[in-house]
Amino acid sequence: PSALREVLLEVPNVRWDDIGGLEDVKQELREAVEWPLKYPEAFMGLGITPPKGILLYGPPGTGKTLLAKAVANESEANFIAIKGPEVLSKWVGESEKNIREIFRKARQAAPTVIFIDEIDAIAPRRGTDVNRVTDRLINQLLTEMDGIQENSGVVVIAATNRPDIIDPALLRPGRFDRLILVPAPDEKARLEIFKVHTRKVPLAEDVNLEELAKRTEGYTGADIEAVVREAAMLAMRRALQEGIIRPGMKADEIRRKVKVTMKDFEE
Ligand code: ATP
Repeated sequence: PSALREVLLEVPNVRWDDIGGLEDVKQELREAVEWPLKYPEAFMGLGITPPKGILLYGPPGTGKTLLAKAVANESEANFIAIKGPEVLSKWVGESEKNIREIFRKARQAAPTVIFIDEIDAIAPRRGTDVNRVTDRLINQLLTEMDGIQENSGVVVIAATNRPDIIDPALLRPGRFDRLILVPAPDEKARLEIFKVHTRKVPLAEDVNLEELAKRTEGYTGADIEAVVREAAMLAMRRALQEGIIRPGMKADEIRRKVKVTMKDFEE
């Protein structure tokens, strides 16, 4: 029960617009999660069974958590987030009970999106792990997934960087049977991500986001967010040093007087 206090229902504030690129993934999530949660009758009426579980896979920092939050928010659903490794370390002995509790809470608060990050930690291929806890956890998770009623307003989204090590039992029909790749961003997507993260940043005239997108091959969304933050910090250090920012100055004035330059980004 002590660990359960951390199973918090939240209503995330991430919107589709806060995610750069990934247009195909967004559309797939709209249809697989948002539509069933918003229009359950349409699925019943048309005889379509929506997925109960969706597995987002791809390299770290590419926006999987962001996507899960956005789809919950845009579906006007509640959101329960848990992390595989936390479940294991904190809930040893209580683990199955806690999985049950999460699903009970989700049903009660439906429509709800349950997000299980780093699911590979609780669901590695059985037999490859000496830890019996994980076996019992997967069984409990499978039981709960099998028990989700059609159109009951509960959807599970899991995320992993290692789809190859996941127990295949989890991927059977009626479980996580929708696999969606969340790839590293290409140049066009990197530009969109730069746009998202510089929305509130005062940019100097010389800042060329297209150029930055071109020059950040291999960067993930998380990397780009860090680049923008560091560039803004450089501008702030300079402005403080030069005495441009003074105590008590308002954000609007600072925005007018301090600009983040292309050189800040390059650095
Ligand atoms: P991990 O596998 O490490 O959990 P993840 O794929 O879940 O990573 P997120 O946690 O969603 O990645 O992303 C980390 C941060 O990187 C986000 O908070 C966001 O600021 C930024 N980010 C990642 N991808 C994008 C994107 N496509 N658009 C905008 N921001 C992004």
